[in-house]
Order: sequence, then structure tokens, then C-alpha cells
Amino acid sequence: MFVRDVDPELVDWEAATEFAVVGGGGCGLAAAATAAVHADVVLLEKADRIGGKARVATGQICGVDSSLQRERGIDDSAEAFYDDLLAQQTESSADQYTLDRTLVTTVAGNSGRTLDWLREEIGADLTLHTGRFEMAGHRVHRTHYPVRDDGVIPRAGKPVTDALHEAAVERGVDVRTEFPCDQLLRDETTGAVIGVASKENPTAVPRRQTTHMIRADHVLLACDGFAANPELIAERVPEIAGLDYWGTRENTGDALRIAEELGLRLDEPLYDMHGPFTVPEGVYLPNELVKAGAIIVNDDAERFMDCGNVPYRVMDMHLLDQPDATGYIVLDGSIVDLFLDEPLTNHQFSFLLDEDCFDVADTVAEVAARYGLDGDRLGSTIATVNRATDDAADVPYGRAYPHELTPPFYTAKIQPMYVKARQGIVVDERMRVVRDDGSVVENLYAGGNAAESLEGGDPNVYIPGMDLMTALTEGHLVGEFVAESVAGDADSTTTEGDA
Ligand SMILES: Cc1cc2nc3c(=O)[nH]c(=O)nc-3n(C[C@H](O)[C@H](O)[C@H](O)COP(=O)(O)OP(=O)(O)OC[C@H]3O[C@@H](n4cnc5c(N)ncnc54)[C@H](O)[C@@H]3O)c2cc1C
Repeated sequence: MFVRDVDPELVDWEAATEFAVVGGGGCGLAAAATAAVHADVVLLEKADRIGGKARVATGQICGVDSSLQRERGIDDSAEAFYDDLLAQQTESSADQYTLDRTLVTTVAGNSGRTLDWLREEIGADLTLHTGRFEMAGHRVHRTHYPVRDDGVIPRAGKPVTDALHEAAVERGVDVRTEFPCDQLLRDETTGAVIGVASKENPTAVPRRQTTHMIRADHVLLACDGFAANPELIAERVPEIAGLDYWGTRENTGDALRIAEELGLRLDEPLYDMHGPFTVPEGVYLPNELVKAGAIIVNDDAERFMDCGNVPYRVMDMHLLDQPDATGYIVLDGSIVDLFLDEPLTNHQFSFLLDEDCFDVADTVAEVAARYGLDGDRLGSTIATVNRATDDAADVPYGRAYPHELTPPFYTAKIQPMYVKARQGIVVDERMRVVRDDGSVVENLYAGGNAAESLEGGDPNVYIPGMDLMTALTEGHLVGEFVAESVAGDADSTTTEGDA
């Protein structure tokens, strides 16, 4: 049971707060740190540490009309962002799926100032990337990356989640780890959302379970999707059921379960892959490799797409279609040098080399022998792409990023892994949860992957950095709304008292 109806007068409340935030990842942290300026906040986190998937993410964050863009004279807008998403749709997917323009432009339109807030008020250092590789689907440079104190771009969200966590604690947020929200509480008479419950020892027999009952005026569900729940994966996105998941283990679909018990409307289930990952180590390789001329071949030593020319989610979908969802990535020494020279990738790439994530070979025959591929066919595939330096017309699948692959070859066996599986709660432009009839569920909000997605359910629609943008911006918006409403309540109390 994920929703419990109670008589508030009979509950032994452990705490009462103005704002209970469920989930301490990107969305929940942004909401808690924002609201804490005016509101009393309790943040419930199921894991033993804070940050969720936002902490382990690669750290690309879109920001539309951020001050870092304006400083560089980059003209950007929420409508331009919306058009960039629309451009990802194929002809047939556009017939099937509709993007929610209001939601997209609300999130995009507030994303730049959310990033400014992160830098100026939260103290998270961010850089706008204007170097190689970053335009994938974006008409202008709008991808920002967290920067560590030592100036390194770690390609991780951790510097941002750390800064938000620190700010939340400084602002007095009661941050509770290993404290899952197991139930949403409703007033049994009015049906209003009035708090959350957390079972301390949920696996014990009921008599020995301790349940913490927290009364809350506002509740935000920011506990992501169901990527770590095999049962829901098999049921809602069976196409990825056999694949490995790369992400945090706590994201088991609790918001979705609550929503279903409340009879709320959910959007389309959607998954995301973020490959390629090396096999068997499961180390994530930068997607940008294919934009520098690396190729991916299958067990027949043949290409099956122009991997540089498709969004990385689509690239993984092609990989998923291969036997055992397996491929082999082939790059060379000059691509390695490029990645070591580029500030965006040098830290991550040095790590990959230190960890021996690539097999290195001087001949095509050696590469083929390593993976049991047909050497002649691999030689022919490489010779074909090498011809495509100027005119790729006669190269099967084309060659968006021509590059002559020459020894030494750096190779790895790869598979896609999924990083996201979600089905979100329909919300309005203030992230308030909305019923089927369009009315708002008072006091209840959803954000990040727990809420309706910007993609409108279309698997073709994704541009790098839009997930973290969504989680952080939606959290910031909910936090502002709660802070305003708490401040408003306080003002009206003072005014009434004065009168
Ligand atoms: C490898 C990887 C790379 C990625 N790279 C990028 C990228 O570069 N750019 C980008 O835009 N996106 C990226 N993403 C996606 C991005 O990380 C997520 O979309 C984003 O973090 C979602 O934010 P969220 O707040 O909804 O969820 P999360 O950040 O996952 O936070 C949810 C939190 O809720 C907690 N929780 C779950 N259930 C409960 C419960 N019942 N009670 C209390 N707490 C609960 C979880 O433990 C977690 O801490 C990446 C993801 C992965 C896995």
C-alpha cells in the first residue's frame, strides 16, 4: 500500500514540516535548497547517500538563456529549445507522440536562471561548453558542465549535487538518508495530502516495524522512475528487460506506485540508454568518440548505422537490434590524442586508458582475432570508411564524421545499458499534480523523472543535457512556489495578527 488514509488527530506525528521532499537527487535537492529560504523542509532519501542519479550522471546540463550564454553573445530562447526537440521527431513519431509545448517552454524558459541560481547562490561552478562535440541537436551552445574546485571537468553531476546538499544543510533542511518514503498520507475525511510515512525496518514483521509519520503542508515526489525495478521494466518497457542497468539502485518506481493508487494520469513509459559501455567491465565510453570518427561494427564485422550521425539513444537502439545487443567500437591513436587534448574529455579519457578499457592492436588481423571476427571483412569495412574522407556517398550508411582509421587501433566490445526507465505523473506548469479532469491535487507536486517527460513519450526525442535541466529546473520551480506560498501564509498571519 503506497497511499494511506489517516485521521490526522489520531496520528502520533514524529515531525511536522512545511515541505516534505521525497528523494535527494537532482530535483529534490534543488527544491529543498530553494524552498529552505522561507520554508521548514524535511528531505527524505532512501539511499545511504545524497545525490541520486544526478550525482553519477555525465553532468551535461542544458540551460537556455543562461548568463554564461549571454556573456558569449549567444541568443537562445525557450521556443528555440522546443523547436530543437520537435526536430528530433521522425515523420511517423510526430504522428504518434505530441510534445507538451507549455511544459517544454516552461522548463526551458526557467532553465537559464536555474543555472544562474546554482552558480550565484548555491556556489556550484559551471562552464558553458563551446568546444568540440557539443552541438548534437542543439542549435546553439547551451550545454553546461559542472567544474570541480581544481578546475577539472569531471563529467559527473557530483559537484552540483554536493553544492546543493551543502546549501540545503546550511539553510536548515532536515536531510534524512536511509529514510525512504513508503507511503503518502491523506486525510481520511477531506482526501487532502497531509504527509509521508517512512518505515525504518520495512522487512521486519509488522509488530517490530517503526514507522515515522511526518506531517507536511506540501509534498514533492522527486524519486525518479523505475529503472531499478525489474518487475516494472518487464511490464512497461520489455524491450530492455535483458539489459544491464547503470544507475542507482533505489529508483524503484515509488512515485509511480503512489500515483497509480491515487488514480492519477501517467504519461507514456520511456527508457533511455547512454552507451556504449564496455563488456564485461561495464565502463561508460564517451558518446563523442563516434563524432570523432570511431566506428561500430557487429559480429559480421560490418557497420549497421552511421553511428556519428544519430542521437546516442538511437545509436543504442540500433545496437540493441544486433545479436546479444553486442558491437565492437574501433578508434585509433589520433582519436585518443584528440580526446586527451580536449578539456571536456581529458579527465574522463585518462581514466579509461588507466583502467585499460581498450584493447590496443597494430593490425586489423589482431583486432579481428581478439573478438573472433572475420579479418577480411573487418579490413574491408575499415577500408570502405577510410575512403570516405570527402565524399561519403558510396559508403553504406554514410559517414558524417570522415576520419581515416590507422594503426594503432583502440577497440572494445560494447553493449548498451539503460540508465533511465520512467513513466511520469502529469503536472501543470507549476509542477502541481493534475487529475484526469484537469483539477490540481492540492499540496502535491512531482518533478524530474517522477513527472511527465518533455519527450512526450517519443523515444526519438532527446538532446544531451535535457534530463538534468528538467530535474534541476523543476525542483527549483517547486521550491520557489512552496517558498512563496509559505511566505504568503506568514504575511497573511502577520497582517491578521496586526489588525
Ligand atoms: C550514467 C548516467 C549518465 C547520465 N548523464 C546525464 C547527463 O549528462 N545529462 C542529463 O541531462 N542527464 C543525465 N542522466 C540522467 C539524469 O541523471 C537523471 O535524469 C536525473 O538525475 C533525474 O533526476 P531526479 O531528481 O528525477 O532523479 P535522481 O537524481 O535519481 O534522484 C532520485 C532520488 O530519489 C531517491 N528515492 C527513490 N525512491 C525513494 C523513496 N521512496 N523515498 C525517498 N527517496 C527515494 C533515490 O535514491 C534518488 O536519490 C544520466 C543518468 C545516468 C545513470
